[in-house]
Parts: sequence; structure tokens; C-alpha cells
Amino acid sequence: MSQDHTVPTLLPRLPALSDFLAQPRKLLIGGSWVASQSGKTFTSLDPATGEPLARIYEGDAVDIDAAVQAARAALSPDAPFARMPPTERARLLHRLADRVDQHADELAQLESLDNGKVYKTARHGDVPAVSGVFRYMAGWATKLEGRSLPLSALPPGLFHAYTLREPIGVVGAIIPWNFPLLMAAWKLAPALCCGCSVVLKPAEQTPLSALRLGELLCEAGVPPGVVNIVPGFGETAGAALAAHPQVDKVAFTGSTEVGRLIVKAAAGNLKKLTLELGGKSPNVIFADADIEAAIAGAANAIFYNQGQVCTAGSRLYVEASVFDRVLSGITARAMKIRLGPGMAEGSQMGPLVSDVQLARVRRYVDSGHAQGARLVIGGGQHGSTGYFMQPTILSDVTPQMQVVQEEIFGPVLTVHRFSSLEEVTALANDTVYGLAAGVWTRDVSKAHRAAQQLKAGTVWINCYGAFDDALPFGGYKQSGWGREGGAEVLDAYLQTKTVVVKLG
Ligand code: ADP
Repeated sequence: MSQDHTVPTLLPRLPALSDFLAQPRKLLIGGSWVASQSGKTFTSLDPATGEPLARIYEGDAVDIDAAVQAARAALSPDAPFARMPPTERARLLHRLADRVDQHADELAQLESLDNGKVYKTARHGDVPAVSGVFRYMAGWATKLEGRSLPLSALPPGLFHAYTLREPIGVVGAIIPWNFPLLMAAWKLAPALCCGCSVVLKPAEQTPLSALRLGELLCEAGVPPGVVNIVPGFGETAGAALAAHPQVDKVAFTGSTEVGRLIVKAAAGNLKKLTLELGGKSPNVIFADADIEAAIAGAANAIFYNQGQVCTAGSRLYVEASVFDRVLSGITARAMKIRLGPGMAEGSQMGPLVSDVQLARVRRYVDSGHAQGARLVIGGGQHGSTGYFMQPTILSDVTPQMQVVQEEIFGPVLTVHRFSSLEEVTALANDTVYGLAAGVWTRDVSKAHRAAQQLKAGTVWINCYGAFDDALPFGGYKQSGWGREGGAEVLDAYLQTKTVVVKLG
């Protein structure tokens, strides 16, 4: 990684942003911006410097309760949202997408400052993906069809039966800090499409972009109470939302560990759950691949967003005959990555989100080293300001090592050697996770065979991290329950009612 000791030139903050950050940010409940009932606030830090960025009112159980009541009231039969025809819900989503695009620079700056990610990534990746998912889901609002079903045993002349698809109700959305705005949109877009109301709890590390999105939602005409946003901590606000008896469904993205707590908390009223959890995704390079493309793809798969990606390609398996070439190719790429504040011109990798995350990633690297892994590059903090972690590669790893088994959520790659398809699929599947996998080969049969054998919710062939709103996304094994994206996400926000009519 290149060591640059000059003080970086930062993009000037947009004036709108300075105003937004100057005031303590409030909670959105029932269409109004309110202080938390306790009056307590917490501080969000700029991970590039560790300096305070903004103060936010801290919601807890009482605020969650008020938000859930508002969300419930927004679904009562005479409320505007419950009476809104699907075309209007579609228009609402399009208006929201337009607002996001109009404020793209500002949202991208906010995301970069709060999360640490590179501004250009936020501006050309995250923000367009946010307006994109609102537009994609707008199309589904008018196509939520039930079915007229032929009967199997009841006499068809005497009975007629059909299904209706109805909104599931109040959704509790609990989201992580790695793609703060996009994760909010992944929950809000299908909920609004299907006619559900939402209480959204952003991650405590990165609440700002969701709160700014809340202002845009209000401007776009989302009726009061349909979307409520309560920033706060996981153990208080998050736990209260997951346990609330008036919440019908929880949509959660975060760690597998917290996912288990959500399952327990949701048992009281048997909430419906979707869980998008951790991963330890294998990326497999066969000797017959386009090696240069595979090297570039594998480096991006682990270093994009500082490796803080649930689908990060964190275990790289390379066929023995090209192992040295691939390892030196990825190492050369890692060395060239320019670390710096997300808001600095020319930065290619920003800081990790927090000191806690940096310490966690470093602990993992140290454990790998202690257990006999070879440090090819990186391994420590970059600089002394902020929470920067060097891009790190470990080789000579064994399947039992913690660095191979556990999700690190940082720019840390383990590199393994293999000799056959059978061997590598067994190694790749030797994990409790099953979120994604990558395969690089020019042999079409091998590619499809590997895709069949890998136990993962998404398999990318000759690419990595290629997302599309039309595609279902979710985990096998302990990577989660249910799917987001595509038509399949609708199943998570709708319930089916069967109507049986006896003909007189
Ligand atoms: P990470 O480990 O990446 O920080 P977490 O799974 O801890 O991810 O956090 C994801 C989201 O879950 C955040 O919004 C966090 O506040 C929330 N959360 C954490 N603990 C709990 C909990 N016990 N109940 C509900 N939500 C929680």
C-alpha cells in the first residue's frame, strides 16, 4: 500500500451538509421530527479522524414504542397509505428515487463522512443503487397478483377459490453500518411497494444518511407514520424493536451473532423474519481462467469497501499451477492501493468504520499469525490518525484457523492452494456460512459443475459482487433466512390469503 504522508486535500463539504451536521439530529416518528423522550444524545464519529461528526438523539424502548404505534396507525383502514392505490405507491417510490438522485452529491458526502467509504464509491455505487432499488420496486407495486386456483377435491362447479396477497403489516428494519443508505433502501423499497409501514433502526455508527433520507421521504409525500426512523443502540432500541408485540415482521441485516438474538426476541409474537447475516465467501481461481481478470476480480472482492462487505471474497482458492502468479498479482495490487480519508481526492480505500472494528480486524490477523499463517503483506494499522487498516494477505493457512473459519469484516484475504474441483468444493463448503462464492474458469462445464456443488446463495462466475435488483439475494446455512431482491423479496413483505366461495 502506498504510504503518503502529505496532508490530503479533502473535498469541500457542501453547505447543505454543514447545516445538517450542525444540529443534533432528531427521530422521525409519525411524520414529525422529535427529540428522544430521554433527551439523551450520542455522537457519530468521522472514522478518518476519530473526531465527532454530529450529535444524534438516542432512541430507546419508549421511542421505539411510539414509532411502532405510529406505524400501526398508518395502516388503519381509513389511513391515507392503506387507501392508496398501487399506482400511487409506485409514483411515491419514483418521486423518492428522483429526490435521492437530486441530492446524490450530498448523500454521498454524508455516507463518506459517517462510514469512511471513498466518496466516489458512495457517489457512483451506493447512491445510484439506492434510487435504483426504489425504481425497481416501484414496478412491482402494480403487479402483486393473487391467483385463481383450480380445485383438487372440492367439486369445481360448487366452489370457487382464489388468493389475495396482502401487506404483512408493520416491519421493523434493523440495518448495519457497511452500506448504511443502501441497506435502508433495501428494506424500505419492498415495504413501501407492498403497502407495509416501517420502523427503521439504523446502526449506531452510521445513522446520518438514513435520517437525511427520512427528510427526502417526507418531501416525496410518504404519509406520516408510514416510515419512522429511530436511531439508537442495538441492545436498547434494536432489541426493543425485535421484541415489540405490535411488529409483524423484522428485516435484519447484520452479524450472525445478533441474528440469533433477533430470532429469540421475535419468538414472543412469532414475527416473520428475514435475516441477511455474515459470510466467509470462497473465491476459486482455476488454472484455465483469464488470470489477469481473476486477479483484478479477487483483489476487488476482498478490498472493496475495506472488506466490510457481507459477500467479501475473503477465502481465495487458487489452483496449484497458477498459485504463485496469482498471489504475486494480488499482492502487487494491494501494495498500490492508496489509503486515505473517503473525502480525499485520490483515496482508493478509506478507514474502517470504528476503533472497535479496527481492533477486531487486527486481533484476527494476529491470531492467524500466531497460528502459523504467513503474512504476505499488511497486517497492521495504517498511519496513526483514524481507523485505517492495511490491505492484508495471509498464506500458508489451514482450514481450522480462526482467520479461515470466522468472518473478519475487514481487508484481510486468506490464500489457499488446491489441485482438483472435488478438493476445492469440499474446502470451499467447509464453513458454517453460505452467502456467496466466486468461480473463475474458461471451462463452461467446470463452471456449472462448481456452481452446482458450492453451497451458497449466489455464485458469481468470472465476476464477483455483480448485483442486480432483479436477482434474489440471501444466504444458505448460517448466512440467513429468506431472500431480498427480485420477485422473491415480495414473499417477505406480503402474506397470502385464500378465499373459498361456495356457489349457491
Ligand atoms: P456489526 O457486528 O457488523 O456491528 P451487528 O449485527 O452488531 O453488526 O449490528 C447490526 C445492527 O443490529 C445494528 O443496527 C445494531 O445496532 C443492531 N443490533 C445489535 N445488537 C442488537 C440486539 N441485541 N437486538 C437488536 N438489534 C441489535
